[in-house]
Formats: sequence, C-alpha cells, structure tokens
Amino acid sequence: MLKYTEAQNIITSLARSFGQEEIALEDADGRVLAEGVPADRDYPPFNRATMDGYAIALRDWESGVRGFKIQQVVYAGQVAAAELTAGTCYKIMTGAPVPLSADVVIRREDAVQTDDTVTFNIETVKPFQNIARKGEDMHEGDVILQKGMVCNPSVISLLASLGKVKLMVKSLPKVALFTTGDEVVEPGMPVLVSQIRNSNQYLLKSLLRKWLIKPAVYQHIADDQEQLKQHLTKALNCDMIITCGGVSAGDADYLPEVLESIGVKKLFHKVAIRPGKPIWCGQMPNGGLVFALPGNPFSCHVTFKLFIETYLIACFGLPKPALSQLPLLSAKAKKVNLDEFFPARVSNDGLLSIAFNSSGDIKSALVADALAVHPADAGDLIAGNKVMFISL
Ligand code: AMP
Ligand code: MG
Repeated sequence: MLKYTEAQNIITSLARSFGQEEIALEDADGRVLAEGVPADRDYPPFNRATMDGYAIALRDWESGVRGFKIQQVVYAGQVAAAELTAGTCYKIMTGAPVPLSADVVIRREDAVQTDDTVTFNIETVKPFQNIARKGEDMHEGDVILQKGMVCNPSVISLLASLGKVKLMVKSLPKVALFTTGDEVVEPGMPVLVSQIRNSNQYLLKSLLRKWLIKPAVYQHIADDQEQLKQHLTKALNCDMIITCGGVSAGDADYLPEVLESIGVKKLFHKVAIRPGKPIWCGQMPNGGLVFALPGNPFSCHVTFKLFIETYLIACFGLPKPALSQLPLLSAKAKKVNLDEFFPARVSNDGLLSIAFNSSGDIKSALVADALAVHPADAGDLIAGNKVMFISL
C-alpha cells in the first residue's frame, strides 16, 4: 500500500493550472496573483515630511541662521508656491511634499514660533532628518509584487497604493461535489433511526470555501451504479471531482468501478493511513483529478487536508506549507501499522491529543486546531516525544 507521501507525490506530479482571469481589486482577497506588478512611480513620489514641523535649508543652518521667517504653510496634498529664499522656512505638515530647496525638517516639539518667525531649541541637525526621500521605498518599474503571491491584506493595500484596480489572478477550479449513500439524508429533513445526516456535504463545502471555491455542481447520489454513472459522466468536464462515500469494501461501494467505467484512470486505491485508508484517486480524460474520499466524517476531513489541499497548493503554485513539530503532552499508544492522524490542540507547552472513538465520531475534529501524525514505524509515543502536525 502507498505511503501518504507517495500518494501526495503522484497527485502533485499531475498538478496543472486552472487558467487565469482579470478581477477587480475589490474581489482580490485570498486570490493568487498571476502577474508581477511593478511600481507605477517612485515611492514616496516626492520628498515627504514625516513629522509636523518646519522645513529649512541645511545650508542656512550651517551658515549660522537660527531664526527663520515662515515663507509658506504647506499642508499634505499641497505644493509650495516657490523655493525657499535665504533665511526662510516652510511650516509643514506630515505627508506634505518638502520642496527641493529644503532638506531638513525640525519637529514642531523642538520649535518656538512667534508670529511668522520660528527658532529651535536643538543644537544640531542632520541632512534629510524627518524627510522620507523620493524613491527610497521603491523605484518606478521595480516589480514589487511577484506572480504567485496570495492577496492578503498587505498585498491588497500595496496594490491599491500602486493604483492597480484590476489584476490578473489564477482562476479557481471548476469543482463537482457528490455525496453518496442510501442512508444519508439532507439536514433539516425527517431522519429515521437508521439514517445519517449529510454532514460531509457541509464539511466539504466549508473546506472548499477556505480556498474560495464554490462547487459548480453539487448532488447527493444514491448507492446506484446507473445514477452514479450518469451524474459523474456529466461532471467529466470539471477540473476536479470530489466524491465522498462508497469507496471501501462494502457491497454498495460502487465508486471505483463506476469511475473506471466512465474513463477515469485509477492512480491509486487505498493509502497506508488511518483514518482515510479507502481513498481512491484517478485522472479524468481532460487531465483533471477525481478524489473519491471515504464517507466517515473524520476520514473525509483528513483526506481533504492531505490530498485535496496538497493538489490545490501545487496547482496554484503556492509554497508547500512547512510541517510544524511540537512535543506531545500525553502518551499515545500505537494502534495499527499505518500512519495515524489524530486531532490535537496546539498550546504553548505542546500538543494536546484529543480523544475520539473512531473515524465515524462526528465530534472528532470539533475542538482540534491541528492534525498530528503518529508515524507507522514510531511505536507508542510518550509525553515529550516530538510530533509533526498540520494546522486545521
Ligand atoms: P462509506 O464510505 O460510504 O462506507 O461510509 C462510511 C460511513 O460514513 C458510514 O457510516 C456512512 O453512513 C457515513 N457517511 C457517508 N457519507 C456521509 C455523509 N455525506 N455525511 C455523513 N456521514 C456519511
Ligand atoms: Mg456509503
């Protein structure tokens, strides 16, 4: 049986772009840049006062002038009418352009103004003190934002500063999502004792939403080969198909067989992990992937994190997230000879393992913020053993 890392390698080797599109800056949160963005001008675009104060010429100060006549008050957004004449200064506000003839700004706190004359209670000044110089942050034409960057608040703010209101981003995949099972009913509908509510539909939609993906198609399908075939065939033009349930060894687990019958090439069936072992993965004739996840809610969650997210990261060209490590706070016995994933909470002291009954325990991941790995070959873990985890 494949190790999960081997399965991940197969998946990432088949990663492909979902295309690119132009969007408004307004809609850019979380999207991945498909273009590099250059500075449209120097930043700051002018010598900018960084303090409220008085702008003088260093040459006047050095020739012994200590009392300056205010030639003009310059507010942010204004341009001074004329350059300084000898012995004069501007009263200047933070953010205002400092004219070229001035090269020192003295803070208002260090000044004494009487009518239109100002003196200063400091001994020395330095060239360009309290002035952010034109182009010191970036030069016109410098590519400041690189292709592949995620539009987080800092990126979005910078794009706005650069006047970039339309941008090319990587397109999101067209996803078809199917849940399966005769026993599964829609939440909100009457439920018999033998029935289970369709939580995975909501789990998977919520996990996809974190990637800004809204499935183009969603359908619940009974355990019926013909119906499965019909719905899945219609979805073969998607970038990704995600199904859940019907991939284990039961008599009604038709997914692998049906998928192969409509031309989806099997990449692997079963991975040496717990939970999630029955996962089936294949490639559609159009090159896109099918992830057939097991139906147990925790298995579904774990396999989404391990395989679907790995695929999305590779398709969007994002950096592989670094695996974190923390000491485990309590002992944990090894149950099976598989890489076991268990829900955990991250604290300052280490990783707290969360008890759960089985992969069908619907509260397994409730208070977890991490998915920790108990490697197949590790044996029992004791408190203090370092454990790898991925954030949930
Ligand atoms: P399966 O993978 O189809 O054998 O299902 C494994 C377990 O997961 C069974 O107990 C199912 O009832 C349950 N299950 C399957 N699909 C869902 C779903 N969409 N929501 C919640 N539980 C499910
Ligand atoms: Mg089923």
